[in-house]
Parts: sequence; C-alpha cells; structure tokens
Amino acid sequence: MIDTQNIEITKRAESRINEVDFGNLPFGREFTDHMLMATFEHGQWSNARIIPYGNIPMSPAISAIHYGQSIFEGLKAFKNEAGEIRIFRPESNWQRMNKSAERLCMPTIPKEIFVDGLRQLVNLERNWVPADPSCSLYIRPFMFATDPYLGVKASETYSFAIICSPVGPYYAKPLHLKIETHYTRAAMGGVGFAKAAGNYASAMLPAKLAQLQGIDQLIWTDAKEHAYLEEAGTMNMMVVIDDVLVTPPLTSTILPGVTRDSFLTLAREANFKVEERRISVIELIEGVKAGRVSEVFGVGTAATIAQVIKLTLDDHSYDLPSIETCTISNQIGSQLLAIKKGLEGDTHSWNLLL
Ligand SMILES: *Cc1c(COP(=O)(O)O)cnc(C)c1O
Repeated sequence: MIDTQNIEITKRAESRINEVDFGNLPFGREFTDHMLMATFEHGQWSNARIIPYGNIPMSPAISAIHYGQSIFEGLKAFKNEAGEIRIFRPESNWQRMNKSAERLCMPTIPKEIFVDGLRQLVNLERNWVPADPSCSLYIRPFMFATDPYLGVKASETYSFAIICSPVGPYYAKPLHLKIETHYTRAAMGGVGFAKAAGNYASAMLPAKLAQLQGIDQLIWTDAKEHAYLEEAGTMNMMVVIDDVLVTPPLTSTILPGVTRDSFLTLAREANFKVEERRISVIELIEGVKAGRVSEVFGVGTAATIAQVIKLTLDDHSYDLPSIETCTISNQIGSQLLAIKKGLEGDTHSWNLLL
C-alpha cells in the first residue's frame, strides 16, 4: 500500500494557465499543468507520481491499443465565490473504477492512489478550477494495459493516470434525442455497466448517423427487443410520467451513474414520487402524445442535467414541454449544483473539501 507521502511531485517550470481563455472554455480540450501516473507491475502498484502534463511514451504493441483493456472515470471539482474547492463524490468513482477493472480483468486501484492522488493533483492545480457558475474542473482518471504482447490475454502490466481539464457546459442547449431501435450499446452479461473504452467506440457510428439528421444524441434501448429505454450517450435517462420520476433500474447493461444516484436521493428527500423500473418505448411515446410526460432529461457528470426538448422515433418527432415547466429537473438540478459548490448543506458528505 502506498500512502499519500509517497506520491512524488515534479513541478512544471512555468504554468501554461495564461494561454487558456477561461471566458470561453470548450469541453475537454484544455489540460492543466500536471498529471498523475502510477505503474502496475510484478502484481503491485508503485511509482505514484505527479509530473508535468505531456505525452506518454509507449510500445506500439500494448494490449490496450489492440484488445481494448482500457477503462476510465469522470468526476468534477467545483470552486465557489469564496474560492473554496470541492471534489464531488470521489469515493464513488473509485469504487466504480474498481468494478470496471474487475470486469475487464484488470487490477483494482488502491484508494491511496485514486482518491488521495486526485486530491493532491487538484490541490496543485487550484488555479485551474474555474469559478464561473457554469464551469468546473473535469477530472479524468484512466487505466490501460501496457504489456507489449500480441497474444490475446490479460496484460500483466498497467498504467493508471489522472488528467484534468477546465470545462464549460457540455451541451449548449436543450437536446433532441433519437430513440435507437436498430443498433445496440450493451447486452446482458456484457460490459455495459463498466466505463470501458470500447463501449464508446461502438456507439460512435450510430451517434454520427443520428447527428447527420440534426439529432444531438441517442437513447439506447435493450439489445433483445429494442422495446425498453436504457440510457443516453454518457447520461442516465429520467422521465416524469404522471408526476412520477421514473428511471430504468440498474442492470448489467446500464452504467450506474453517480449523478443518477445523487439525483434520485435528493428527489426522494424532496418527496417526489420515484420509481426505478423499466420504461417501454411505447409507454414513453404514448405518454408524450397524451400530454402525460412532463419532463425527459439525462443526468451525468459531464452533461450535468441535460433537458430534452424533442424526441425522434423512426420517422416521427415529438415535441416535449418547454424546459421552464420542468419542475423536478429544474429544482433538483439547482439543488445538486448548490451542494457541489458548497452553497447548500451537504447532508450526505458527498464533497471532498480541499
Ligand atoms: C459516465 C456515464 C454515465 C454517467 O455517470 P456519472 O457517474 O453520473 O457521470 C452514464 N452513462 C454512461 C454510458 C456513462 O459513460
């Protein structure tokens, strides 16, 4: 086990921060001055270090490239007007990364490297955490297989890394989503519940085909019948039908979102009716037509609360109520952001205050 004292820090000679336009931050294109890395070999993690952000030398034969043993996480740090910095629920991301690691036959990562490592890294990058209400520091931990070996087998060596990116909003406006009934994201028994790199590769063609039709993202449906909603791009889906907040239950095909869990917790506390159950495509579309669906939105760290204004199924499009009328997503969404910024009581101790 490695304790925090053992993370060696090598600082960059000069910060790049003045080259970045904080008034106009795109998502995920600017990176901070430093990154964390650790190495797994001989059955253990070692050499946890914070070094200047930069390219990683690697063999062209590493199994991450050829066979996709590669997983990641995504979480955020927030700064308020008082300059306080909080990281939202890092332990949940640590636990989830280890579930992904187990499924992909990769080693788990100790908390001392994941949580303490990101705490030290973000502490070093304090100036990079934007204070603007719509901005944050996106933190991307990831792990990949590094054996230079072309045989198909689990690698014996791995790298773990954390990079950070100051970000603005992921989506600039309410979304137009297509209900996907041809392609499949995840099947029962597969890796849909893991944040495995390959899941996103297989989603790119279907998403691009939809984007050519002017659609922002897809809502995936189950692999077997394409009859039930699963989730969207990088967000879990929520629907308000007859004033009940409904979301699909967590199965092996759905990523267990930290935002999903936080949102459901707050919605239950605010005495909204909440159901985790399957939602059929027919129920959703008939509900929209009958005016019984008052809100459709996605929830995720990167996209935050992404409200949906239009749905497309096959050749038909359906308008949803305007977002000003979306009581639950507006109310719980604001409360969640206030908690993350330390402006409202953190009764669940979700924040790691730096
Ligand atoms: C990351 C992700 C989510 C959202 O998870 P959060 O922990 O809330 O960020 C949902 N679905 C998929 C497929 C994801 O990759």
